[in-house]
Amino acid sequence: GFGCPGYYASIRGTASDEKLRRVPKIGMHIVLLGPPGAGKGTQASILAEHFDVAHVASGDLFRKHLGESTELGQLAKGYMDKGDLVPDDVTISMVLDRLTYSDASSGYVLDGFPRTLNQAKALDGALIESGATVDVAPLIIVSPEELVRRLSGRWICKGCQSPYHEVSAPPNQAGTCDLCGAGLYQRDDDKSDVVRSRLDTYESQTSPLIEYYENQGKLVKIDGQRDVDDVTQGLISALGR
Ligand code: ADP
Ligand code: ADP
Ligand code: ZN
Repeated sequence: GFGCPGYYASIRGTASDEKLRRVPKIGMHIVLLGPPGAGKGTQASILAEHFDVAHVASGDLFRKHLGESTELGQLAKGYMDKGDLVPDDVTISMVLDRLTYSDASSGYVLDGFPRTLNQAKALDGALIESGATVDVAPLIIVSPEELVRRLSGRWICKGCQSPYHEVSAPPNQAGTCDLCGAGLYQRDDDKSDVVRSRLDTYESQTSPLIEYYENQGKLVKIDGQRDVDDVTQGLISALGR
């Protein structure tokens, strides 16, 4: 795994074993699983920085399209407003395209994708083509009451989309992003009726992925109901297995 010294030695090509040097594709490919509000975005951004890989969040990509009023943005809005999933075909092509950008060449932390079995299979297919696989799929576990508490107090940066929480993770200066200085807003779909529908969507369409990755031996369960730093430590040690 990533935690063992030999891994980095092998990808740098310093290992003497020829077999290790023939690893076709270097990189870290992490799928963060968990319901809306579990802390995927928060953790994905920390992990991406820590391991110097890309943070790819499908929800952020859709919100960018929405902000730019692209055709895809208009289409996605109808689903997002109701807490439904955007159809697989457009979601898969949007995310797989994003994964070809140069910042993702040494790997990525996926946040919010895959959310269906079709998406998971499409990701596996794309990875196999480049000689790689999903390395680990950590599942961040948080109680339903805490999910609702987190979503109802969430504020998002208009500039860089970093998440804050009015109680557990407030910005240094009210209403302003610590990282880029832009203003914060509350997402329309974090209002209570849509939250319920998103949690139902997760149960019916996304939770089957737990078994999918478990069968591949890639699932690691992480207690998400702790301080952000403790969850990060749990994730980093899971990635190093
Ligand atoms: P997701 O991407 O899974 O929907 P976020 O990372 O956006 O989740 O987190 C949801 C909300 O919960 C945000 O307001 C965030 O600041 C807050 N949050 C994230 N992790 C924790 C934590 N460990 N403890 C308390 N609040 C958290
Ligand atoms: P959260 O993690 O808080 O649930 P996201 O920002 O990941 O929210 O997603 C917001 C919305 O964007 C989802 O409710 C859904 O409508 C759409 N969406 C995001 N990712 C996907 C995906 N992989 N497949 C289909 N729809 C998605
Ligand atoms: Zn910001």
